[in-house]
Amino acid sequence: MGHYLGPDCKLCRREGEKLFLKGYRCTTNKCAIEKRNVPPGQHGQTRKKPTDFAIQLREKQKTKRIYGVGEAQFGNLFDVAVGKKGAITGEYLLQLLERRLDNVVYRLGMAASRTEARQLVSHRHFRVNNRRVDIASYVVRSGDVVTVEDCSKDLPPIRAAVRSFSGRIPAWLDFDPTELKGTVSRLPAREDIDTQVQEQLIVEYYSR
Ligand code: SF4
Repeated sequence: MGHYLGPDCKLCRREGEKLFLKGYRCTTNKCAIEKRNVPPGQHGQTRKKPTDFAIQLREKQKTKRIYGVGEAQFGNLFDVAVGKKGAITGEYLLQLLERRLDNVVYRLGMAASRTEARQLVSHRHFRVNNRRVDIASYVVRSGDVVTVEDCSKDLPPIRAAVRSFSGRIPAWLDFDPTELKGTVSRLPAREDIDTQVQEQLIVEYYSR
């Protein structure tokens, strides 16, 4: 599947909740969900009782959209999670999504959204363990150190994101705002992940 190029807010309206895809706009009253929370399309306001399948599908779609992952890549991550011995599949899937480099950059407050983080990573502004990494789907490990390229430290989007960051850095990450340096102190546990997702529904979706 190609990358979705349509309006981000439409995706939130489809899911009926804020997915925080547009950075700063998401916390203002310009947010489409704040203004008009109805599904897009001609029949958006038609209410039908969703089937179990529809509920599972929506949870999978929502999770994909939150993390900005395509269908095939999401399926591949699910396969990895299924194959992980001793792990709870749904939780491990979420952990893999959280460990993506673009998500880590976003969680550290160095980008206003995951979309922006993905672009910054692919434009080669970040290093992991002092090596340049431009792959947004790179999965970090415990002990990894994420830094900004020296020549990118004054990049306006990074500076603006750090300045306006009002969230909480998750407990599994440490951040030095002066050095723009993040450290993966440990792998995220389920309780560290505040994404509003019922991962069991995704497991059920793929187990049909
Ligand atoms: Fe979603 Fe953000 Fe658009 Fe609101 S502003 S609908 S949270 S992408």
